Amino acid sequence: MKCLEDRILKDGKCFPGGILKVDSFINHQMDPALMQIMAEELVRRFSSHDINKVITIEASGIAPAIMVGAILNVPVLFAKKAKPSTMQNMLVSEVYSFTKGRSYTVCVSAEYLTKEDNVLFIDDFLANGNAAKGILDLVNQAGATLKGMGFLIEKGFQEGGKYLRSMGVHVESLAIIDSLDDCKIKIRTQYD
Ligand code: 5GP
Repeated sequence: MKCLEDRILKDGKCFPGGILKVDSFINHQMDPALMQIMAEELVRRFSSHDINKVITIEASGIAPAIMVGAILNVPVLFAKKAKPSTMQNMLVSEVYSFTKGRSYTVCVSAEYLTKEDNVLFIDDFLANGNAAKGILDLVNQAGATLKGMGFLIEKGFQEGGKYLRSMGVHVESLAIIDSLDDCKIKIRTQYD
């Protein structure tokens, strides 16, 4: 998606270890107009699916997910990273965080993810696909159906996209980064 690609090139910052920071428009300060356009594009790309719930992981997935949910007019469920003491009947999975270098638990209430649900997972980044795998595990535990996974930015030099597509998951990414080598952002040209 050209406007996102241009914005990444203009305002994105590379950090050692293959980390892209987009704190000025996605991950800290947010650009709602861009977020809205990106959500509309994700909805368009998944328009062949019947979706009745959007799922994401706190915190950085919530902004794009709620925009997508608002357009689709469906509830948005975010997996929590800490087990709330008051939550009963929890579905729990383990996720390894690439950026933090450690594992954490993700959980949702079984009350809000059930076998009636056809879900679309939305997140800011796809890297090694660990967050996506954790969500897929929760969806499977609930007996729900995964309809697709949509990301704002995919790091094409990491394995998540290849893995999920090889599993037959419908994956859409609005911008694909081919390399962050030497702290230079190289974006794969995609034609919308
Ligand atoms: P994965 O689980 O696919 O390995 O990594 C995706 C998650 O890690 C995303 O939810 C995102 O929050 C974080 N992440 C992975 N790589 C990057 C990156 O280069 N920049 C930022 N800002 N977050 C990242």
